[in-house]
Order: sequence, then C-alpha cells, then structure tokens
Amino acid sequence: MTYRPAEDRYERMTYNRCGASGLKLPAISLGCWHNFGHDFPHQTKRDICLTAFDHGITHFDLANNYGPPAGSAEHAFGSILAEDLKPWRDELIISSKAGYYMWPGPYGEWGSRKYLVASCDQSLKRMGLDYVDIFYSHRPDPDTPLEETIGALDYIVRSGRALYAGISSYTAAQTKEAQRIAKELGTPIVIHQPSYNMLDRWIERDGLKDALPGLGIGSIVFIPLAQGMLTKKYLGGVPEDSRAAQGKSLDAHRINDRSIEALRGLDALAEERGQTLAQMALAWVLRNGGITSALIGASRPEQVVDCVGAIRTPDFTEDELKRIDELADEDSFAAWAKEAAG
Ligand code: NAP
Repeated sequence: MTYRPAEDRYERMTYNRCGASGLKLPAISLGCWHNFGHDFPHQTKRDICLTAFDHGITHFDLANNYGPPAGSAEHAFGSILAEDLKPWRDELIISSKAGYYMWPGPYGEWGSRKYLVASCDQSLKRMGLDYVDIFYSHRPDPDTPLEETIGALDYIVRSGRALYAGISSYTAAQTKEAQRIAKELGTPIVIHQPSYNMLDRWIERDGLKDALPGLGIGSIVFIPLAQGMLTKKYLGGVPEDSRAAQGKSLDAHRINDRSIEALRGLDALAEERGQTLAQMALAWVLRNGGITSALIGASRPEQVVDCVGAIRTPDFTEDELKRIDELADEDSFAAWAKEAAG
C-alpha cells in the first residue's frame, strides 16, 4: 500500500525553535540507535517511523554506528525513505553523527577531519541522501585539536553535505570553546545532544543546560526515558521483550527491588497527574521550555503514540518536582544497581 501521511500530523505536535537558529524541531524526536539493526523486523521499523511522522515527528536521528551491525540502521532508514517517505523529504530533519568506532585503523573514530568527512559521505550513501539536515561530532576527542573537529563540521556544511552543525556529549566548557571557533568560521553550532533524564542529571551539575541558551545552541536530549526505566515497562520486573533482558545497553541490575519500588512511586505520581510514566518523564525533561526536543527510542509504534501524549501535559507543581527529586535520586539508583550486581 502506498503510504499517505496523516493530514492532521502538524496539529498533533508542538515545534520548538532550536537555539538562535531558524530551525524548529518537534518536542519529541525519534532515534534509531536500537531496534533498527538486522536483529529487528523491517516492517516494525517501518511502522515505527511512519507512526512517528503521522504524529508530527519530523526529526529522525541516526549515527554511522547504529545497528547492529554498524551502518545497518542508516541502511534501514534509507529503505524506509525510498519506499515511503521520500516525497516528504523537505518535511523531514534527518541527522547523523560520527565520533565512535566505525572502521579499523587510525581514521575510523574520534574527531579528525579525515574521519568526519569520510564518515559523513558513507552515511549519505547508506541513506541514499544528497545531504543530512544536521551532522554531529558524536563525542569530544581529547587528542584532536578542537579547531580541526569544528573546522570539519564547517567544511561539511559549506560543501553541502549537511545544513546544520551539532555536537554531542561535550561539557559546558568544551561547548563554549567549540561555539567560539564555530562562530569565527561562520558556521555556528545550532544543536547539542547530551544525555538527560530524571536519573541522569549531569547537564545540570556541569552547567551545560544553563549555558546553552546564552550560546544560541538548542538541545535535544537522548535517553529521556532512561532506556525504558522511566516507563511502565519494568514495574513488574524485567520482561523478556525488553532491552534489559536482551543484554543490550541497559544493565539488568538497574532493575532491582528498590529501584522498582521507586519507579512505582513515580508511576503513581504520573497517574495522579493524569498521564503515563513515560509521558511524565518526557514532560519533566521539557519542563519550562528548558530543552528543545526529547529524543526517544521505540520498539513498537504504540510506544511512540504514548510518548507523543507528553506534549499535552499539566505543568509541574513545586511539590511534584520535590517528590520526583526524592524518588528519582541518581545516587540511590546507582548504589542499588551495584548492590544487585553483588
Ligand atoms: P529512551 O527513549 O530513553 O529509551 C527507549 C526505550 O524505552 C525503547 O526502546 C523501549 O524499550 C522503551 N520505551 C519507549 N517508549 C516507551 C513507552 N511508551 N512505554 C514503554 N516502554 C517504552 O531512549 P534510547 O532509545 O536509549 O535513545 C534514544 C535515542 O537517543 C537513540 O535512538 C539515539 O538516536 C540517541 N542516542 C544518542 C546518543 C549519543 O551519544 N548522542 C547515545 C544514545 C542514544 P524496549 O526497546 O525495551 O521496548
């Protein structure tokens, strides 16, 4: 069947300006880190992406190494583009990144110009695209001069391979320096992609969250659901169809009696607020307009629909924020996971 997107898709989403740029991003974006490799059925990937677009999710986030194997998520997304989404290319924001290990030898990871430009070309080929909308340096490189990494992003934009430049997981201090260089070159960084959720608040401690607006940089936060912990998924233990059970990136020891009790407390609070736990977790990262977009993952289309419900959310009261701080205490969760690991 030929795909036709839902006509009311743009009424189902809110769009936030990304830093000081002209780019607007959906409050909820979809990432293809897990569930887009060869280990997952193509039809489910397709259903997830098309459901997302039908709900106003215009932004799809990829990286060279997403799979498994590395590269296969970009191939899969390229097929979905070719089969279904190509007619709407101008309504989509597609991103990719390079920084982590991709191929052997000295040019297959980190932040050199050699690696970033070659990897960007490979990503374009895998997805069948002429350009990506955003290209990121995926992680800071302690050994390559920042001038070279940011210079490579400037070149990638100037050469038409990408429209905007972004960085991921840089600290506040590294971000300030990166933006100074980028502005001098004339291609400002418009977006930063850090991790952030109730159980991972490093961007608050580091000062990155507060620094970004002044630098004119928007923020798209990854793992806003703590890889599924901040959903109803683990309230009864570790289900077989979960990331934790399948030994992927979520350590199963993080799901233990004490953490389940705290997650149930958060779930009860979400219910009082008339929403699901996933919706409350997303509303929390987006609270007070402090973050441009929450970047979710999904293993089925229903999860996407649940997450999009986060945009119709009541504001948090002071009391609710305090209860969240007490229940979602990072240090306690880390200590319980350590105890459970023995
Ligand atoms: P996440 O949204 O915290 O976790 C997604 C997982 O939560 C899903 O795979 C699913 O788990 C579960 N889930 C989602 N919605 C649910 C719902 N409504 N109800 C129940 N369970 C639900 O984020 P993530 O997938 O870990 O990461 C999101 C994206 O961030 C990635 O795809 C990638 O684009 C980006 N990312 C970037 C970096 C970086 O270094 N820049 C690093 C990591 C991720 P199951 O699969 O178990 O069903």
